[in-house]
Amino acid sequence: MSLQERDKKHIWHPLTQHKLHPDSLPITKAKGAVLYDDKGREYIDGIASWYTAMYGHCNDYILEKVSEQMRQLDQIVFAGFTHEPAVALSEALISILPDNQEKIFFSDNGSTANEVAIKMALQYHFNNNDKRNTIVAFENGFHGDTFGAMSASGLSVYNGPFSDFFIDVVRIPTPTDDTIESIVELLQQYINTNNIAAFIYEPLVQGANCMRMHSSENLNKILKVCKANNVLCIADEVMTGFGKTGKYFASEYIEEQPDIISLSKALTAGFVPMAITTCTQKIYDAFLDDSVGKAFFHAHTYTANPIACSVALAGIDLLKSETIQQNIKMISNAHKVFESKIKLHAKVGSTRRLGVIFALDLAVDLDRYGDKRYKIFETLMANGVCLRPLGKTIYILPPYVITEKQLENIYNAIGQVLEII
Ligand SMILES: *Cc1c(COP(=O)(O)O)cnc(C)c1O
Repeated sequence: MSLQERDKKHIWHPLTQHKLHPDSLPITKAKGAVLYDDKGREYIDGIASWYTAMYGHCNDYILEKVSEQMRQLDQIVFAGFTHEPAVALSEALISILPDNQEKIFFSDNGSTANEVAIKMALQYHFNNNDKRNTIVAFENGFHGDTFGAMSASGLSVYNGPFSDFFIDVVRIPTPTDDTIESIVELLQQYINTNNIAAFIYEPLVQGANCMRMHSSENLNKILKVCKANNVLCIADEVMTGFGKTGKYFASEYIEEQPDIISLSKALTAGFVPMAITTCTQKIYDAFLDDSVGKAFFHAHTYTANPIACSVALAGIDLLKSETIQQNIKMISNAHKVFESKIKLHAKVGSTRRLGVIFALDLAVDLDRYGDKRYKIFETLMANGVCLRPLGKTIYILPPYVITEKQLENIYNAIGQVLEII
């Protein structure tokens, strides 16, 4: 039996209607920016496997570091114990995070990073005898698939069956220059009439919402209102973190700094899952007390797994390296040139980009997971390029190690798509 047939016997894939799409493509190997399937075909990984493998698949430097760590210490309970990789990672992260971040809390994935962030924010107010129960979030944001994170997410395509069980969330639209004043008013109204604990947002780029972007100036106006009302600001940098926007973190573009930041995805460079929620001293101090009850009682068994920590540390070394920083600039410039050409195409509606992120909207209507979307996907794959179009949006978020030639191949494959739709 082929791998594909064996897969179908027992495996349930995410985001998949198995009745319509029973087949999954077996990938046997990955190196750098390239994926290899079981027939030996090659695909350029144009989205770095959901923005994780940013330093390239099976990166040799990370491999070396992680294999050393695997021989030294694999796992230890993180309540009451500590270890070098976690401590070194806390130091490395704090040195590149926005200045106000002081404490780091570990979990396992982007959803739990946000779950932790939301629980931290709720308990922060609770511990200060200020019971607040409502979260503000952007419309069409995406924060993950656990209940708290799902409640904050506005993309109904994922969340419909569960909406009766959500925590309390009110929503504001993402701002444009035309709407920012009315959004600030709406936010102030929500604050006046609800007990708002926190505002959770994807800074500058909404990943799952087709890489929609908003300006740092407008986001800053929203954050200012939150700060003035002791509404904690939670920056979900699960997608934007670790260099994708051209800076280490998207929050660096914005004057007002978040109280809490969620990190995952590129944190562990595609090797193993891990997530981190960081916060300011002020948040941490609200949990310090003689009573155990004020402590933060949230834990996952694999909290701060030493192997995952060593991967993250190696990833940060690479991120800070001259080579990776030069490559980020190279990719960003290549996108700029591509954008200037492609936006004139009759079938291209609009384009946007920031750092290594590029997106274009086709000037045709498509369902997010409809037939035409699959046809576009297959055309890209037939051209040796792996991208996952979201409805009419085609976006590129390549690993930093991608070459100019490989980028050119991605641009050409998108050109092919424009021919067939
Ligand atoms: C992917 C993502 C999440 C969820 O992370 P998982 O690891 O898939 O749980 C949350 N927020 C943003 C912005 C994301 O891109």
